[in-house]
Amino acid sequence: MPQFAPNSWEARADDNVMYGFTDLPSLHARGPVVLTHGTGINVHDVHGRSYLDANSGLWNMVAGFDHKGLAEAAKAQYDRFPGYHAFFGRLSDKTVELSEKLVEVSPFESGKVFFTNSGSEANDTMVKMLWFINTVMGRPEKRKIITRFNAYHGVTAVSASMTAKPYNQWFGLPLADFVHVECPHYWREGQPGESEAAFVARLAASLESRILAEGPETIAGFFAEPVMGAGGVIVPPMAYFPAVQAVLRKYDIPLISDEVICGFGRTGTVWGCESFGFQPDAIISSKNLTAGYFPMGAVILGPKLAAELMEASEKIEEFVHGFTASGNPVGCAVALKAIDVILNEGLIDNVRALAPQFRARMDALLEMPNIGEARGIGLMGALEAVKDKDTKTPFGPEVSVSERIANRCTDNGLICRPLGQAIVLCPPFIITPSEMDHMFDMLEKSLREVFAEVA
Ligand SMILES: *Cc1c(COP(=O)(O)O)cnc(C)c1O
Repeated sequence: MPQFAPNSWEARADDNVMYGFTDLPSLHARGPVVLTHGTGINVHDVHGRSYLDANSGLWNMVAGFDHKGLAEAAKAQYDRFPGYHAFFGRLSDKTVELSEKLVEVSPFESGKVFFTNSGSEANDTMVKMLWFINTVMGRPEKRKIITRFNAYHGVTAVSASMTAKPYNQWFGLPLADFVHVECPHYWREGQPGESEAAFVARLAASLESRILAEGPETIAGFFAEPVMGAGGVIVPPMAYFPAVQAVLRKYDIPLISDEVICGFGRTGTVWGCESFGFQPDAIISSKNLTAGYFPMGAVILGPKLAAELMEASEKIEEFVHGFTASGNPVGCAVALKAIDVILNEGLIDNVRALAPQFRARMDALLEMPNIGEARGIGLMGALEAVKDKDTKTPFGPEVSVSERIANRCTDNGLICRPLGQAIVLCPPFIITPSEMDHMFDMLEKSLREVFAEVA
């Protein structure tokens, strides 16, 4: 029986909204949380209840839900020039400014930026850029894309093909030419007795043999999130990316860093690739790019890929790709402000300052008999629930342990999301030390309540 009244917001949502990525049986019983507004790191629902949003919306609302400067930047640009495209050699001045800013803050000495409306479209665009370069330059067979199991790169047909999650079988995906290799989750995937160094060496060797088996001349690129986000906050061993990069360089395969979550501060550095010691050939950005105040994504090409794309485009006279709203001037104005707020108004400093407190409170929860792993970096973390800690045995699927925890958290005033059997935490960058304590206190209470019921 639904717990909500006829004609309530919940009932109206249930009647008319097609929900994405939502556990429908539990939703029909509980009803959705319908929100009206936010203040700081909290959101408020139609019944006047407040929740601390420990997930920054969907990773992206890093400046909180009522940042004056960001709203003003949008308003000012709406008044000045509310919309334009970037086709046929016409584009807004803000699009030029943001492109210049992104190259400036990127790890690249020079480069080129292409705008999209989302992270999925940015990954999709990057794949099309690689296919375009290789096809135009006479190597049409060089089109396979390698990603890792558990990776999340988006939902368009191409980016879903890169998202190596079992649910994509229900769409008949992946498309041809998408290859998936091991996930660098040492705690779960390391073999008995295998050291972290041996684990990294095994994954690098396996990547190399896969490249050789596929034919190095058929591989167009390797895409990776520095820390897998929607895969469950999988922090790779520090030696992982240098080892992978060495293999890719040997076979001249571009390494694309999907920084949609890590980019702009989440791991404590501007880019996740800086935290994990690798030099990508291109960067995919979205989410934090506008602090969630406008839908926007960007492909930032380093000098080599920029030159190759220019050469191919000149050969056929244009790069035949673009979205109507690519480089929308309001989005660009918001992104310029968001970058300034994150880098110059103390947000990234706060991530660094609070990361030790975040880590300490995560580690304290590891004392619980049903928390198997507490992993994270910067202000992103996950707690893995286990039935048996010594054997790392998960709970049975009938327990829906992480959904139960997330629902109990909601009841207790905390929004956080379940992922597999883990609970994900990625609070806004403006969080204060006392809000951090409050967040963990609510989480700890919820965990104790649920484990008392199911363990
Ligand atoms: C969210 C996400 C995407 C997809 O972005 P959308 O804006 O939802 O299309 C791509 N890559 C990563 C790493 C993400 O976290």
